[in-house]
Amino acid sequence: QLYYNIKKVSKPKELKEKGSPPAPPTIPDPYKDEYSTVDDFALGGEARNALPDISPYACFYGAPKNQVLKVGWLDKLSPQGKCVFQRRWVRFDGESLAYYNNDKEMYSKGMILASAIRQVRGLGDNKFEVVTSLRTFIFRAEREGERQEWMETLQTATRPPACGSQKRSNSLPHLSSTNKRGLLELRGYKGRVLVSLAGSKVRLCKTEQDFKSGLAVAEVELTAANIRDADRRCFDINTPFKNFCFTAESEREKEEWIEAVQESIAETLSDYEVAEKIWFNEANRSCADCRALQPEWASVNLGVVICKKCAGQHRSLGPSISKVRSLKLDSSIWSNELVELFLEVGNKNANSLWAANLPLEEELYSGASAEQRATFIRRKYRERKYRRVLEGFDDLEQLNQALCAAVVSPDVLQTMALVFSGADVMCATGDPTVSTPYLLAQRAGQRLQMEFLHQNKLSDFPRLEQWSENTTLSDASLFMDGFLYISSGPTKTTLDHMTRRWCTLEGGFLSYYESERSPSAIGRVDVTEVVSLAVSNTETMTGAGTVFTVELYLQTERALIVGAETQETQHDWIQALTKCFVPPKVEGLLQRDSELIGRLLYKEGHDLYHWRTGWFMLEGSALHFSPGDEEGEEEVLQLKQLQELTVSTHTEGEEKIQVLLMVEGGRTVYIHGFNKMDFTLWHSAITLASGTDGKALSDQQLTKNGVPIIVDSCIAFVTQYGLCQEGVYQRPGDPGRVALLLDEFTRDARNVKLREKEHQLQDVTDTLKSFLSQAEDALLTKELYPYWVSALDEKDERQRVKKYSTFIESLPKINRSTLDALLQHLYRIQQCSNLNHMLSEKLASVFSSCLFQTQGQTPQETSVIRDLISNYVTLFSVSQKHLIMRSAELAETALSMRNVTFSADDLWTTFEVIENGELERPLHHSEKILEQVLEWSTLDYPSSAFLVIKKFSGYLATDHKQFIKGDYLKFNDGSSKLLSGHKFQDRYVVLRAEQLLLYRDIKVSTLLFSA
Ligand SMILES: [Zn+2]
Repeated sequence: QLYYNIKKVSKPKELKEKGSPPAPPTIPDPYKDEYSTVDDFALGGEARNALPDISPYACFYGAPKNQVLKVGWLDKLSPQGKCVFQRRWVRFDGESLAYYNNDKEMYSKGMILASAIRQVRGLGDNKFEVVTSLRTFIFRAEREGERQEWMETLQTATRPPACGSQKRSNSLPHLSSTNKRGLLELRGYKGRVLVSLAGSKVRLCKTEQDFKSGLAVAEVELTAANIRDADRRCFDINTPFKNFCFTAESEREKEEWIEAVQESIAETLSDYEVAEKIWFNEANRSCADCRALQPEWASVNLGVVICKKCAGQHRSLGPSISKVRSLKLDSSIWSNELVELFLEVGNKNANSLWAANLPLEEELYSGASAEQRATFIRRKYRERKYRRVLEGFDDLEQLNQALCAAVVSPDVLQTMALVFSGADVMCATGDPTVSTPYLLAQRAGQRLQMEFLHQNKLSDFPRLEQWSENTTLSDASLFMDGFLYISSGPTKTTLDHMTRRWCTLEGGFLSYYESERSPSAIGRVDVTEVVSLAVSNTETMTGAGTVFTVELYLQTERALIVGAETQETQHDWIQALTKCFVPPKVEGLLQRDSELIGRLLYKEGHDLYHWRTGWFMLEGSALHFSPGDEEGEEEVLQLKQLQELTVSTHTEGEEKIQVLLMVEGGRTVYIHGFNKMDFTLWHSAITLASGTDGKALSDQQLTKNGVPIIVDSCIAFVTQYGLCQEGVYQRPGDPGRVALLLDEFTRDARNVKLREKEHQLQDVTDTLKSFLSQAEDALLTKELYPYWVSALDEKDERQRVKKYSTFIESLPKINRSTLDALLQHLYRIQQCSNLNHMLSEKLASVFSSCLFQTQGQTPQETSVIRDLISNYVTLFSVSQKHLIMRSAELAETALSMRNVTFSADDLWTTFEVIENGELERPLHHSEKILEQVLEWSTLDYPSSAFLVIKKFSGYLATDHKQFIKGDYLKFNDGSSKLLSGHKFQDRYVVLRAEQLLLYRDIKVSTLLFSA
């Protein structure tokens, strides 16, 4: 039944037409008749019995030879212009006119492509000329009739359109379909030749110009040819008639030629017998790895059918992991059983083992780059990352037992699952007569099992990870190789001297070699000795082109810079390298965008006396750290929110060390490195990450509430000095000073201190406005602009505010916190509009263009901002109380902030102190602080007033009528400024029965005043 179907399926059109050159029908197929017989047998239900009659071996036939249209001896005028005719054997096959030294030669002395022939003209003396764009060739026939025949044949074949159009269109491909072209040295030939590979032919030309004009020396048909990798830059193309020995410019160039020629050779084999059989299983009609259609290769031990591109990557896994064979090239290995195994298993089942846990986003697609392909295939088969994990096996012994049980059953898939999980194909069965699983399968008559075991007898699949995971540092079986650019040296200038090297990472050592084939390494680095690893997430220009670099800093104060060609390979190397020196416990620290990873000595928080080793990772402005082997949680320092960042020199025993101090959110962390080099590295990276590095809000240094320090400082300054200034925010500052201030904030906002005497209010207000206008995005975001404005369509203010609320919710966190701070500030300003004359309407018109970052303020923009300011309390769900703090709350808040404990009997309250401490009074518990403070603006020296929170020493009396109090108090009636020099005088004051009595002093009974 099986073979009947194969026969039926192998012939349909859609397969034939897509497969590049189908088997030529002109050549008799010796097996055709056999198939017919099988057909008949199969119909009679005898297919299995007919097996021996069908050859499982693909048969070989060469590409169809072009039909020779005319051949014979002619004299050809030598090109040297000496008017010497040389006797040549000339052959025309419709595609080219080639001339040979004699009729025995296989390769011509020269050839003219038919497509290059412009004209064929008769000359006197039995001569004719063949005209091309570059040169004219003159031939002489022996007889007139002979010349006529040559001319007619050439003219017919090269006559433009209409006749022979099919041939003509075929004969032009020399430019477009070239697979590879370049100059190579050819042994026995002076100078270099231009070699071009197109289809199944290698064409040799004297020059690029010749090539372009359709002139050549000879063409080498690759059918039946093979390629041999010779020494160094050399490779040979061996044909049955002649060996061509080429030398390339470089070894890399050579590799490319070998690959290209190999592929062409595979293309020339038009045998699809095996492929069509294998494709009978529908799952095998697309590549098991990338799903490209009509895959012509297979990994015979892994049981997958793959495309040409994936086959290349499989080869680099090495034969102990993947044995790659062409469905066309390696016809000899495709035994009946192997074909049947592939039919039985098929890509679908094989992938149920290899890709059972393949996440959708990691799937490979047919258009993937070579790097993506390499990564995927390495993960799939070498790391076996997506493999179906077999449950219920505790050790190798159990796996092997299961294998011995499986191989005697027809269930090949189970055998595969076991072998790919690490079961030993050569394990002992315990039976001396049938000592291996293979022999067990043989005795049970399981041919497919035998075939699979045979193909895997040299395979080396590591055992299940769970058994080998006990190593403290990452697993020793970690292996990776590939080309990297290497430069070892301490400075950046070495980037100019990066060299492409073949690198391997094995057993914790990174070794680099001159080339892939060099037996001994040029250099080697013990990766376990790495203390820090710096990653460049952008391309770096080096002498060798742009690369993605990784810098390895070693304990010995050495550094090694390696560069990968793509970010993907860079990432893979980082993964592999860090596994060698970062303990598994802190591997969670490693993020995709890590810029710096390593260990440092640090002390923090609860123990500031002992240095400990910790693992640090810098990602953006977040510094993650974890104690590693000791107990402890991972922590994060937000570097943009650092309150302090200083370097100091400490003395530790005999030596002086440099220490970096960081304070953030009440935490203090000290770090120092293993040597000067890694300390400098971390210090500069942390300084950079903690600074302002762009115009986005998130690029700014932040307060602990997540508000840019520049915004916070300006607001604080204006609140202190501008709340009562008429037209605050309306008056323009000095552009020069504003620019300077902005610049200072950009350099290091933490160190800008705004002071009343040094800074003008209007410069500060303009700095705030400029910052908001020039930020990377508007505070209200440009994306939301249409939403903000369209909210105005809602006429009901409460509904409108609800809408604003949802927009605010959708803002980035930092925009939200900044908006909160700013609106709170503006809300306060308008609350003091009796002093500053800035109602929300006016503030809105000042701020709308900075908050939306629009050119002018449209009425809509202003309306939105006005709404936001006046509804600040609702929008940010702030209780009114909080904003308008009363005396008692201020005292309470201040005490709790200072952690002052007080008993219920203590009465703490807020005192207002004016005139530089001359006068103080306790505020009534219900007095509004802000209003009182604003009153200071009417004082001659507003800055001479302040608030004090202290324990109230007076006593409370319940009966106001009985209340008598007498004390020395300061007195100033404001009437005698000239005389008293604006001073208060001490007076003894008595409060009795709702009367205030004033005496000069306690002994004097003269009543000065009574009220
Ligand atoms: Zn593929």
